[in-house]
Amino acid sequence: MRELLPYLKLYKKHWFGLSLGMILGFLTLFASIGLLTLSGWFLSAAAVAGLTIARETFNYMLPGGGVRGLAMGRTAGRWGERVVSHNATFKLLTDLRVYFYEKLTPLIPGRVGVLRDADLLNRLVADVSAMDHVYLRLISPVILSVLGITCLSAFLMWFDYDIGLTLGAILMALVIIWPVLFYKLGKGNGQRLTQNRADLRIYALDWIEGHSELLLFGAEKRYRQKIDQAQMALMTNQAINAHITGLANALLLLANGFTLILILWLSADGIGASGPSPLIALVVFAALASVELLMPIAGAFQYLGQTLASARRLNEVIGAEADVQFPAHTHSPVFANNQGCDIQFQEVSFAYSADNNAPLAVDNMTLNIARRSKVAILGKTGSGKSTLLQLLTRYWDVQQGQISIAGQPLNTFCETELRQLISVVSQRVDILNGTLRDNLLIAKPNADDSELAATLVNVGLGELMNEQGLNQWLGDGGRQLSGGEKRRIGIARGVLHNAPILLLDEPTEGLDRSTESQIMALLEQHYQNKTVIFVTHRLVGLAHMDNIVVLEQGKLVEQGQHSALLKQQGRYYQLHQSL
Ligand code: ATP
Ligand code: MG
Repeated sequence: MRELLPYLKLYKKHWFGLSLGMILGFLTLFASIGLLTLSGWFLSAAAVAGLTIARETFNYMLPGGGVRGLAMGRTAGRWGERVVSHNATFKLLTDLRVYFYEKLTPLIPGRVGVLRDADLLNRLVADVSAMDHVYLRLISPVILSVLGITCLSAFLMWFDYDIGLTLGAILMALVIIWPVLFYKLGKGNGQRLTQNRADLRIYALDWIEGHSELLLFGAEKRYRQKIDQAQMALMTNQAINAHITGLANALLLLANGFTLILILWLSADGIGASGPSPLIALVVFAALASVELLMPIAGAFQYLGQTLASARRLNEVIGAEADVQFPAHTHSPVFANNQGCDIQFQEVSFAYSADNNAPLAVDNMTLNIARRSKVAILGKTGSGKSTLLQLLTRYWDVQQGQISIAGQPLNTFCETELRQLISVVSQRVDILNGTLRDNLLIAKPNADDSELAATLVNVGLGELMNEQGLNQWLGDGGRQLSGGEKRRIGIARGVLHNAPILLLDEPTEGLDRSTESQIMALLEQHYQNKTVIFVTHRLVGLAHMDNIVVLEQGKLVEQGQHSALLKQQGRYYQLHQSL
């Protein structure tokens, strides 16, 4: 149950709506039970009065009005209760989703890298939704039942102490037995249901996302079968749930039937000290109506296992510590000091896995990059070039050593300032589902359309604006981009962002020669006053670089200027020769 604590705390903020919902729920219950009880008594009393002299004095109007009033009260109460409690729970869910997002964002990419997209989606949607069950199906019905039973027993005890007490004791026993019994019965199935629902989403999303690949390799059918199997499993869980609900309701009605007989038997000789009277009908109908108090909790507790499983899945995300934590403010901002932006890597080591034997992606690297210098990083695929850039943007944190910018350790910069200091053209450019404008504005939110259009023309993507200008929709449901076009969107973003440090991760990979030289000319013009780190496989234009660094398996094996390195006839020379 401890799993639910973080969510119960969120309830506090909406205490008013949630409590009002419960009060209205109580009034509805009162009206419903009162209606049956009063009607039972009224019919019998009216019949008895009809047979006696009392027919002349019997007040038909007041109980009749009471019955009407309770009937209308029940309808209005139920409507009000639904509106108020749903409003409160939807607000609660909104808060919960925001809370979940706030906890989730810092965990990307380190902690949630192991979760699949579909699984994360499922946690965000289904598991968060399951949290409103805690209030709607568990807390509220239990409180209402206990309160209702107490009031009903007290009311009946006023007429007949023993009967009121007996009915109260039986109902209390049922309120304790049903939740425990059906929690146990539904627990295993509920947990499997939560897991199977997540599996179904994972398989379905895999199938949609990889559909063209699956078709090409003839694997589509196999994947579809997986979806079918997951769906069957989920439907089986749902069927079991329905059976358990049916059983809970049926047994409750049975228990109510027996209780009714018992109460009838106990009240047969009359209520309290008086002999047989219409009050018997009042008590018996009250016992009959008491089932209303228990119905909401009859099947509800079978969902507790499911809710707990969802809470556990959410807690895995909410409870995780972010690997990379930024301070709220930068102590001495680099911009204010105007110190320029040199970069130092001091004995930096990093491995992707915490395992001691894991290979180091960056191995004891020491590298000084003077402000406004241009550095090229070369190395075979997998030698750690992109990782080095990601360490500088704190996508990951170093495990040993230190990186500093302008003499300040990287972890003293707040996130906003670090992002303002560095522009990145990453190796894999992601296109958001949105317009061309949206896709560029992420790099410079205050840019106007003419600046965006000019940048697009500079990177050779002017044609993208031919039909709908910057409103051209990209990504899902819109215009798809080729690999080279995506790359140039990445470059346009880097140019727009215009920070003092520019990181380029193979920006011209996959571009033809003439586009490449156009882009390089643009970048060189843009470089001028910046510190540039340029990761590349192509050995063209390196003579202009201030420093060339060669990496091998995460280690810096050589550095120097183009001509010096060629003279040295080491790794760089070999790379040069092999092309
Ligand atoms: P390329 O030239 O192909 O882009 P690279 O030099 O940029 O290669 P990196 O991407 O830095 O290489 O990868 C260095 C090593 O770290 C590789 O062995 C790679 O498999 C591994 N690696 C990269 N990203 C991850 C990750 N997220 N989790 C685990 N290992 C990773
Ligand atoms: Mg790379």
